[in-house]
Amino acid sequence: MTKVAEAFDVIVLGAGAAGLMCALTAGQRGRRVLLLDHADRVGAKILISGGGRCNFTNLHCAPDRFLSGNPDFCRSALHRYTQDDFIALVERHRIAYHEKTLRAIVAMLLAECTQGGVDVRVGHTVTDLSAADGFRLTTSGGSFSAASLVLATGGLSIPKMGATGFSYEVAQRFGLRIAEPLPALVPLKATPDMLGLPALLAGVSLDAIASCAGQSFRENILFTHRGLSGPAILQISSYWRPGDLIALDLAPAHDAAAFLLDRKQSRPRAEPKTVLAEILPGRLAQALAEACLPLAAMANIPDRMLTSFAARLKHWEVRPTESEGWPKAEVTLGGIDTRDLSSKTMAARNVPGLYAIGEAVDVTGWLGGYNFQWAWSSGWCAGEALSSHP
Ligand SMILES: Cc1cc2nc3c(=O)[nH]c(=O)nc-3n(C[C@H](O)[C@H](O)[C@H](O)COP(=O)(O)OP(=O)(O)OC[C@H]3O[C@@H](n4cnc5c(N)ncnc54)[C@H](O)[C@@H]3O)c2cc1C
Repeated sequence: MTKVAEAFDVIVLGAGAAGLMCALTAGQRGRRVLLLDHADRVGAKILISGGGRCNFTNLHCAPDRFLSGNPDFCRSALHRYTQDDFIALVERHRIAYHEKTLRAIVAMLLAECTQGGVDVRVGHTVTDLSAADGFRLTTSGGSFSAASLVLATGGLSIPKMGATGFSYEVAQRFGLRIAEPLPALVPLKATPDMLGLPALLAGVSLDAIASCAGQSFRENILFTHRGLSGPAILQISSYWRPGDLIALDLAPAHDAAAFLLDRKQSRPRAEPKTVLAEILPGRLAQALAEACLPLAAMANIPDRMLTSFAARLKHWEVRPTESEGWPKAEVTLGGIDTRDLSSKTMAARNVPGLYAIGEAVDVTGWLGGYNFQWAWSSGWCAGEALSSHP
């Protein structure tokens, strides 16, 4: 005998940033919402984002800071639920912006879910999903039915935290297209040889401009044991494809040629590595001097050698072999194709009752709060739409 399924209006699959926002929004508008996750707690990625430079939104959020097959797709959602809306919610909960904020953000979202009567269940692995007169889900913990199903299981980054391609599989089953998922905001691999340097410089970091595919970012870069990381590299990694060159301006604050020619006059007896250390970290200055300039006093180095080295310093070309992949990628580029979704409601165009939100969708933000804001905005839009259209 088939077990009777527990009935809801909406099932949200994935209790991350987007799923929580969608569930609380639909719940507070009177829908009976079930929020399911296979992990044993909600919002795990919100919690781990605490390390380093986490931002739960960005004050300068704008559509041009997102990558997508359709760069205009995110425009409507970002406009309808803005960074100011999320900040107002945080302030309503009297959360101070300090290091423990993220734990408080998850608690806030859960409190809002409770207020909306959302049924939150964790530790549920989906074993069967069918669609006929709505959706029916069987999980390791029960059987559920609803008129609407929201795919909010995120992307493929950090598989050890439970990331799966489940939303993609379900979307494909219902005929939606998938833009190839690729690791993004990810460190890149390059040996010292490929970096054009004689030694490993792991741990050295400096202000630089990283450029690739017509895009540039000025922030720190970090040499690692395997290649390059740091904010400027993570940012440019979203635009880089295997085989591409990345150009680095290693002295963005300086006219390097003028600087070197000046020091030839003012410090004629100094070695190049000592002069370079005025504008670069010491270990990098030494490695560059060894690789590119003669072991001689500045006075004895021809001007043309200094100016051609300066040009290289401003346009240091690196061809990384590959990225560090899913285990190190902060987000996923690509995902459920926006051509098959409504930009206003996140509903699938041709599958009544099916929605997709958050990182599962082919919308990827820059580093620094944009990805969470996309999760909040897309989650809110779907939740809002669900309150009027089951
Ligand atoms: C280390 C790190 C730091 C980051 N820092 C920032 C930052 O500072 N600012 C920023 O904006 N973004 C940051 N991000 C990105 C941000 O965390 C994500 O973009 C955001 O969490 C996406 O929200 P989501 O709800 O779409 O997906 P997720 O938050 O990934 O949530 C998906 C949920 O679905 C669940 N799930 C997955 N598969 C299944 C399944 N088969 N069945 C049931 N449940 C499933 C998961 O357990 C998870 O709870 C960071 C990411 C990482 C990895």
